Amino acid sequence: MSGKDDQPYEFDKARLSTAAVHAGEERQKNASSITDPIFCASTYTFPDSASVIEFVEHKLPREEYGRYGNPSERVVERKLAALEGGEAALLFSSGMAAVVGLLMAKLSGGDEVVLFNECYHRTRELCAKHLSRFGVVTHEVPACDYEAMERAITPRTRLLISESPTNPHLSVVDLERFAGLGRKHGVDTLIDATLGTPYNVRPIEAGIDYVLHSATKYLGGHNDLLAGVIIGPTDKLEPVRKLRGILGSVNSPHNVYLLGRGLKTFELRMERHNANGRAVAEFLASHPRIERVYYPGLETHPYYDVAKRTMRGFGGLVTFLVKDADWKQTAAVVDAVRIPRIAPSLGGVESLIEQPLVMSYYECTPEERRQFGIPDNMIRLSCGVENTEDLIADLTQALER
Ligand SMILES: *Cc1c(COP(=O)(O)O)cnc(C)c1O
Repeated sequence: MSGKDDQPYEFDKARLSTAAVHAGEERQKNASSITDPIFCASTYTFPDSASVIEFVEHKLPREEYGRYGNPSERVVERKLAALEGGEAALLFSSGMAAVVGLLMAKLSGGDEVVLFNECYHRTRELCAKHLSRFGVVTHEVPACDYEAMERAITPRTRLLISESPTNPHLSVVDLERFAGLGRKHGVDTLIDATLGTPYNVRPIEAGIDYVLHSATKYLGGHNDLLAGVIIGPTDKLEPVRKLRGILGSVNSPHNVYLLGRGLKTFELRMERHNANGRAVAEFLASHPRIERVYYPGLETHPYYDVAKRTMRGFGGLVTFLVKDADWKQTAAVVDAVRIPRIAPSLGGVESLIEQPLVMSYYECTPEERRQFGIPDNMIRLSCGVENTEDLIADLTQALER
């Protein structure tokens, strides 16, 4: 059949929104459907034994069994690789499953990793408490201290890991410098760019080897799914893909359908998240009841220069300290806002608010919280895509109480 669908268009090289809508999909689908079907199949049939042999001999690319991936997942993997500007993407059932899959595939007993200490706390916990049981050695150095990171590199170092921007302090890593450290010492680099997203940061263009996202956050974007993704070179991802087939941390066809659907509006959502984040950060920075605002787009932010040079927008996450407030008065501000819901997570259409002391660090001692840089009066607000003026009016009334 010839027609419009045969006219070539390189959607995987298209600009963000065009790729978000079209990349990774076949133009001609089952039953001429415009959307991709959801294949609810745990297994896939072969017409005869000769076909099985052809498949096993790698002569026939096709599906085999659900633990090795499914067609819906492959579509979304191709879309995510296109959005990130990488060769290949590998989806997992959650962001943490992606972290576990990559680190287990890459590291063996005796190997070492170096992390910035503002990495996602469960990633640090995986390295310090669990990979250590298999003989992997972890060195944590202060975030964005490149000299300390370089000093921690040894001949056994296999991976340099950071998040950027970090959570909740929103420190911004100079990705080219980070990638340069890896190249200089022959060590792969991994950036967890969950907070950055391919809209705001471009780690692969900066020379980073692996980019990881909790797709639960901005990529899925609707607070309705868990997923994780790693983007990187095809050959480096192949052993990770094989291990995923053993770990079994694949997505259900329904789940990746939701992710692919959420991605269609990725650029539109990011524009509003960025606009809301900036407006809320500026509003809070000029409010007399606020002691400090952490937002990479504010000139007062310690990493403003790096952020301005390397980020297209500064995201929807804003962290701030309430002036002269103890933990209870801070909790009262959280309780007084009416639009944002109290919940962990970030990056969805609904604004979410939390006090880190209460939500994630309640069981820590005050000394540990000091070490992590979590004061009692800290609030983290993930701006959703609600109307900007409504969000600011809501914060105004909450702070006036
Ligand atoms: C949420 C998050 C993760 C973990 O992702 P899940 O999808 O919850 O497993 C990892 N890194 C960052 C920066 C996150 O925000």
